[in-house]
Amino acid sequence: MKKVLFIKQKIKGYPGYDMRIRDENLSVQDLLEEMNEFVESGQIERVWPGNRTNCYACDLCCYEPLPVTSIDVENICQAKHITEFSEAFKYLWVEVCGEIVDITLRRTEGGRCIFLTAEKTCSIYRYRPFLCQTYVCCGTTENVEELRSQIVNQGMDELVRKSILTFQTRGLPLPVDRGREDGIDLADWSENCFTGKTDYSEILLKDVLSSDLLRILLL
Ligand code: SF4
Ligand code: SF4
Repeated sequence: MKKVLFIKQKIKGYPGYDMRIRDENLSVQDLLEEMNEFVESGQIERVWPGNRTNCYACDLCCYEPLPVTSIDVENICQAKHITEFSEAFKYLWVEVCGEIVDITLRRTEGGRCIFLTAEKTCSIYRYRPFLCQTYVCCGTTENVEELRSQIVNQGMDELVRKSILTFQTRGLPLPVDRGREDGIDLADWSENCFTGKTDYSEILLKDVLSSDLLRILLL
C-alpha cells in the first residue's frame, strides 16, 4: 500500500489535489518519490501546459527566485561533482535583509534559473530542489502548501547555519550577493532536524512538521 494518499479535488474551480499520510515514519524522500510517481501517472490535470505528465523541457516555472534547503545544496554538489560545500555558492544567491537571510538558486539574464539550458531543460533534473519537485501547476490545498513551506523553511535555516559556519571556520564572511553581512550572527541559527543530514531519506516528516499539521495529515 502507498504511504501517501493523493486526493484529487477542485480547488477554487481548478483541478487540484490534497494529500494525507499513512505512515508516521514517512521520510521526505518517500514523499518525493510517491509524489513524482503520482504526478507522472498523469492523474493530475495541469492548468498551464496541458497534456503533460512531467516537467521535463517545460521552463514556465524556472524564472522565479527558488529557495533551497541544505539537502538541495548537497544534491546540487552531487549533480555537479562538487566536493567543497563552499563551491556550491556559484550556483546560489544570498540575500540579507536585517536578520533575514534568504538563499535561492542563482539566476542569469532575464531571471532564468542558472540550471535552465538553452533547450529549456533542467540540467540537474534528477537532482532538482524540493520545491521544483513538489510544485505542480494545478490547485493545492493550504495543507499541501503548509507542508512544503515548513520543510523548506527548516531546510533553509540549516543551510544558512551551515553556510555561516563553513565560511566562518575559514575566516571568511558569508558571500552575500545583496544586503549587508555584518549583522549576521551564527548564534541566531540553531541546529534542527536537517543538521548533519545529507539526504532527504534521513529526514522524517514527523520531525519537520508542526504537531498541528501532522495531526491533520496523518490518516
Ligand atoms: S509545474 Fe511548471 S514546469 Fe511543470 S509542467 Fe507545470 S508549468 Fe511546466
Ligand atoms: S532547478 Fe531546474 S526545475 Fe528548478 S527552477 Fe532550475 S531549471 Fe527549473
